[in-house]
Amino acid sequence: MNDDLIALAGNPNSGKTSLFNAITGAHQHVANYPGVTVERKEGYYSQNGYDLHIVDLPGTYSLTAYSPEELVARQVLTTERPRVVINIVDASNLDRNLYLTLQLFELGIPVVIALNMIDVAEGRGIEIDAGELSRKLNVPVIPTVARSGRGKEELLAVASRIAREGAGSIGPPQIPYGPDIDPVLQEMEAKISSAGLLTGLYPARWTALKYLESDEEIVAKGRVAAPELSAELEKMVARVAEHLRKTLDTYPEGIIADYRYGFISGLLKSGVMKRKPAADRLYLSDRMDRVVTHRVAGPLIMGLILYALYYFAFTGSDAPVKWLQSGFAALGAVVESTLHPGLLRSLLVRGIIDGVGGILAFVPIIIFIFFGIAFLEDSGYLARAAFMLDRVFRTFGLHGSSFMAYMVGGGIAGGCGVPGVMATRTLRSSNERLATMLTIGFMNCGAKLPVYALLIGAFFAKSKAQMMMLLTLISWAMAFLVAKFLRTTILRGPNTPFLLELPPYRLPTARGLVIHTWERAWLYVRKAGTVILAVSILFWALMNFPRLPESKRAVFDAQRRVIAAGLAYQAKGVEAQLAGKPAGDLTAAAIDGDEARAALRYSLAGRMGIALERITRYCGFDWRTNVALVGGVAGKEIVLSVLSTAYAMGRSGSGKTVPLGAMLKADPTWNPLVAFTLILFTMLYVPCVVSVVCLAKEAGSWKWAMFSVVFNTTVAFVVAVLVYQVGRLLGIGI
Ligand code: GDP
Ligand code: MG
Repeated sequence: MNDDLIALAGNPNSGKTSLFNAITGAHQHVANYPGVTVERKEGYYSQNGYDLHIVDLPGTYSLTAYSPEELVARQVLTTERPRVVINIVDASNLDRNLYLTLQLFELGIPVVIALNMIDVAEGRGIEIDAGELSRKLNVPVIPTVARSGRGKEELLAVASRIAREGAGSIGPPQIPYGPDIDPVLQEMEAKISSAGLLTGLYPARWTALKYLESDEEIVAKGRVAAPELSAELEKMVARVAEHLRKTLDTYPEGIIADYRYGFISGLLKSGVMKRKPAADRLYLSDRMDRVVTHRVAGPLIMGLILYALYYFAFTGSDAPVKWLQSGFAALGAVVESTLHPGLLRSLLVRGIIDGVGGILAFVPIIIFIFFGIAFLEDSGYLARAAFMLDRVFRTFGLHGSSFMAYMVGGGIAGGCGVPGVMATRTLRSSNERLATMLTIGFMNCGAKLPVYALLIGAFFAKSKAQMMMLLTLISWAMAFLVAKFLRTTILRGPNTPFLLELPPYRLPTARGLVIHTWERAWLYVRKAGTVILAVSILFWALMNFPRLPESKRAVFDAQRRVIAAGLAYQAKGVEAQLAGKPAGDLTAAAIDGDEARAALRYSLAGRMGIALERITRYCGFDWRTNVALVGGVAGKEIVLSVLSTAYAMGRSGSGKTVPLGAMLKADPTWNPLVAFTLILFTMLYVPCVVSVVCLAKEAGSWKWAMFSVVFNTTVAFVVAVLVYQVGRLLGIGI
């Protein structure tokens, strides 16, 4: 297999011709490509009896089809299929030159990088770590000075070896294009490869990218080869394009270019390139990054931003939450006064209005937090946070890509574990991926938020934002510690390298923020109206059946008759006998309350909660909390809705709806320590049913899903007992 083709590709003025001449000497000839005035230069080189056939491609910055040079370069690469591409890059202009490199990667031809002009780079105070660049990109990188021929031999040795033997395990990473493009890209790629559309010429992912970039040549070819599929792909592209136009005021090509530049800038900042400050031309984005990702200032800024976000969310949502709460209370009162006492009224008021309304009242805080997160995301700040946390993630055996998964799962508060678990797909190592999936449940998803908001509002009203900061720190710390534990025990294995994208900073558009916020808030409201409604009704039923037997009810009726007859002292006697303790003020309402509590204890849910008290008393939870926690397995909001129903039912059969927070504060079994312990337990225990199912699917086995159920609940229990017992010993919050 002699005469293998090697292509030389690079930007204009990167030193391509110099390198070509150095390699081929006099053995070259020049012609024109058919139909265009672009020169085609070919040459030959012999090494140890092995002949290389080298073609010098026209110099281009990109492989889009905007100029004849680009078209020709692309043509040669895709139709003549060289065995290797030597990509010559100008080391003194690396960021711009690597843009072409990324596109060469996507063509799927093995690439060897000639890091040229290193003498010029050094002269300008730019230091490039070729070894690090090679490790990060997973392709060979050979420093050269084309003008003097330095590095030529090594370059050719590597290139001819790959031409002979293939690239083997050498292969560059896939460039991520962000949450808007990536899912569509994946879907399109799957369609293209299963239909075999142009796959003889181009990799499926490349074709999909060209569709997204609206590349005329490729789309035209696609239409001819498979009109229906092509129309479908174009429709998919039109949908993303429309979404991007509305939210970010840009096009898919724009996003793709941004992510490529972001990828390069993250790569160069991750230890590949060092510049002496004097030689530095800093752009605004780079200048901002200097401060924002600074070793000391960076984390401080991150903390401040988070604090500001929580402060803004809690203070801003305070009034609307109160309006909604009193609105639902008023609604409850209206229903209460229109309907006769009975099961229907109880279902509507206690089951539905208290249960679902209790959650919906917290929608404003969700909206505020989602808005803040959309701002951080759209502005490009979140990518910087990932950049800073990369080293931390590594320390705990996780991967930089775990950051986005955590973020989606509620890293700031208000995400969801289901898309979070799915976001781990970008992780290539299965152990890193599992460790991430199994710890995402510790993040503060949107479902936990109303539970926190209520308990913080009732017991830590003076320091809401600080509490939320503390909870965020605790959930990250727990996720890291548990991940480290898993990665040093059952999920051992090496770390894989991570490349960060740093898209440029942008001022988010108001429209984009509103749309992003609305999309997420609506999902939340819809969940409250469907799943949560159904589970609330189920738990209402569990709390109402079986009903108190006739004989027990007769006792309460007797008490009421006694009171009605004005024989209060006798009633006291009855009450004392019943409860085994002396009674306080005895009124008809108090007897109603006693009866309601007795009925609740008698119900299925009540019995379950009471049975669980044997274990949960070590962390200070009474039976009503237990019922709520059992309900929370279906969705963590349920903790709140069941607590509302349980306390409202336990109060009395009638009387106006009182916010749960006020009821808990008035209840002697509750104090800040119990509230804090419950928050921690809610944060850590078993992920909700939907995310467990999702985990099973993504991990490919129920074993891991079951593991997470048992493991997380154990962790939660241990932490809750520790916190509660230590708190009591030290007398904190009781
Ligand atoms: P092309 O446009 O990519 O073909 O680049 P050329 O080979 O024509 O080189 C452009 C200019 O850079 C020429 O003046 C070369 O002499 C010079 N040059 C090429 N490689 C190097 C190098 O490694 N170091 C230095 N200092 N100059 C180089
Ligand atoms: Mg040239």
